[in-house]
Amino acid sequence: PPRGELLLSVKGAVKRFGGLVAVNDVSFDVRAGEIVGLIGPNGAGKSTMFNLLTGTLPMTSGHVEFLGHDVTGLSQRAIALKGMARTFQHVKLRPHMSLLDNVALGAHGRTRAGMVSAGLRLDRREEAQIVAEAYKQLGRIGLAERAHELAGSLPLGTQRILEIARALAADPVLLVLDEPAAGLRRKEKHELGDLLRKLRSEGVTILIVEHDMDFVMRLVDRLVVMNFGSKLVEGEPAAVRADPAVQAAYLGG
Ligand code: ADP
Ligand code: MG
Repeated sequence: PPRGELLLSVKGAVKRFGGLVAVNDVSFDVRAGEIVGLIGPNGAGKSTMFNLLTGTLPMTSGHVEFLGHDVTGLSQRAIALKGMARTFQHVKLRPHMSLLDNVALGAHGRTRAGMVSAGLRLDRREEAQIVAEAYKQLGRIGLAERAHELAGSLPLGTQRILEIARALAADPVLLVLDEPAAGLRRKEKHELGDLLRKLRSEGVTILIVEHDMDFVMRLVDRLVVMNFGSKLVEGEPAAVRADPAVQAAYLGG
């Protein structure tokens, strides 16, 4: 999609867990070519919002539109097939498989819906295409030379980057990341930030859900701040950082 085109639109999202309103009437958009950060203190409702928009959890009310289609109520798999790729807060790589095979699984998820992981039966041409795509994505993150090492042997920061390559192998329109900087060392955070900026320059659109405010501040074009389930403010990083309500929320949380 051309730069600036509306990709994702969350409209009046509400999620109740019994009496608790975890997400309370939240609306925001993501446009092609930008990195948007969804931040907020612990318990603000970020993960719940992430799960609503990726189809992992059903909404109590509200809508999600993706690429002009109403995807409210669709499964995570159905939304993924439309071009929304996600990573998980806890790394979900296969540690005993090679880097190449891990990324190939991501490519395969898009090429043939419904058949994942072991026991695949692919013809040779299909297999060659998937391997080529996996090498291409490993090259993009600078790990092509280590294609045959085991994913489990990588440091956590590199595993996170490998997970992103796996998500990219499905050729998504939108990449949604759940706390990618959590647990990373300072140097690993820098490497991750550099990679995400590089991807943006290549036209990848990214929505990043993150607790680490310093990490997102240096990265994103726009921020949506949640607190107690509601959207507190939205805007450019400098304005958001200076906002007294945001400072109070972070200090209080
Ligand atoms: P954040 O990711 O911003 O830390 P969450 O979305 O995880 O916040 O949680 C928001 C609120 O919803 C919290 O009060 C949390 O305890 C509650 N919550 C989250 N998931 C569930 C669930 N499955 N059942 C009940 N309450 C939940
Ligand atoms: Mg969370």
